[in-house]
Amino acid sequence: MKPRYSGFATRYLGETGTRLLMDDLGLALEDGDRWHNLGGGNPAQIPQLQARFSAAMQGLLDSGEFSRLSSAYDGPQGYRPFLRAVAKFFRSRFGWPIGEEHVAVTAGSQASFFVLFSIFAGVDSSGELCHIDLPLTPEYIGYADLCATPSALRAARPRFVELADGMFKYAIDFARYAPDARTGAICVSRPTNPTGNVLAGEEIERLLGLAAAVDVPLIIDNAYGVPFPGIVFTDVTPFYDERVIFCLSLSKLGLPGMRTGIVVARPDWIAHLRSFNAILTLATSSLGAALVTPLFESGAVLDLARNDIQPYYAHRLAQALGWLREHLHDVDFRVHKPEGAIFLWLWFPRLPISAAELYARLKRRRVLIIPGHFFFPGLDGEWAHRHQCIRLSYAQSPRAVELGIRILGEELRAAHANG
Ligand code: PLP
Repeated sequence: MKPRYSGFATRYLGETGTRLLMDDLGLALEDGDRWHNLGGGNPAQIPQLQARFSAAMQGLLDSGEFSRLSSAYDGPQGYRPFLRAVAKFFRSRFGWPIGEEHVAVTAGSQASFFVLFSIFAGVDSSGELCHIDLPLTPEYIGYADLCATPSALRAARPRFVELADGMFKYAIDFARYAPDARTGAICVSRPTNPTGNVLAGEEIERLLGLAAAVDVPLIIDNAYGVPFPGIVFTDVTPFYDERVIFCLSLSKLGLPGMRTGIVVARPDWIAHLRSFNAILTLATSSLGAALVTPLFESGAVLDLARNDIQPYYAHRLAQALGWLREHLHDVDFRVHKPEGAIFLWLWFPRLPISAAELYARLKRRRVLIIPGHFFFPGLDGEWAHRHQCIRLSYAQSPRAVELGIRILGEELRAAHANG
């Protein structure tokens, strides 16, 4: 049989960066000992966090809340005690003027972005194509296939800032980027996946001003940011603005399997998310939200972020940078300044093969990385730079990360010697 697939489906049936990444994660999960996984975005398993979550789960079982939650659909905005706790957390800790009507739960922030991009981009009621603007690339691989109309995603090339110690940084090139009448929303991840860039406060303020000039929202993807999970190594303060759609997630707190995303935004936009949730999934899963509700009620989530999560990743980052210096000491490479998230973004200006070929060679040696070309969603035109970069995660076991980096050094030397 040769079924006739819809045009919409055809986009999702072929090779996509997100699928490659998740397939590789599946490989490493099934047969972990044989792979050095520097690929996907799984967070580290931090013992203190895991103990807290296990105790919380036991609490839900003992109190009968688990039976109650698992035997009924929740409302489509999410588990109410959690919505209240999140609103109170931001009100009391950061002075945000919000209530539970400003908060929605989704099936992970990947799902939040699918809904938000569907709301603000695509062909509008007057037949015009509206865009999600990504003012800074490289940007998160997962945005690439989220717009039902592929051309709805629009990205701009960055400005390069040279730094000391073999580091560099991308910055928004405001000479090149400005939203226009066809912009539906502006979106940035902060910290940025894959580079670990943390957009400066002035850059965010400038984006807000640009968004206001064309009256569109600014979507901030805070999957790694402050106040939780707080994987940030610079000074950043969370802020509220009526125009900002703030997207958070429990994943990098250590609960990716719970598939729980959180959106904080104006009540009318939250109502749209509620409608989409009802249609797509009837209700969101309450379990992840219920598990962490006490952490938000007490504010303990902030202490976990500051005292356990941030220092853990700061240590892992320092280790990984040390191994890079040791094993790639004779290779020409730059590292993007790691200001947050769980990745290192490496740029090899004279790479004799493509990053995709490097990925394939490393995979043959059981090392998983992500080739850089997937991280330029919405960017038109050829650009050699896309094929000269790779992303490494340093979140998995130190042994795997060190071995992976050692093998990376060997493959780079071989490529330079033999092509
Ligand atoms: N946004 C960014 C920047 C990410 O790195 C990820 C996952 O790695 C997501 C969103 C999606 O997270 P989740 O759907 O697990 O909440």
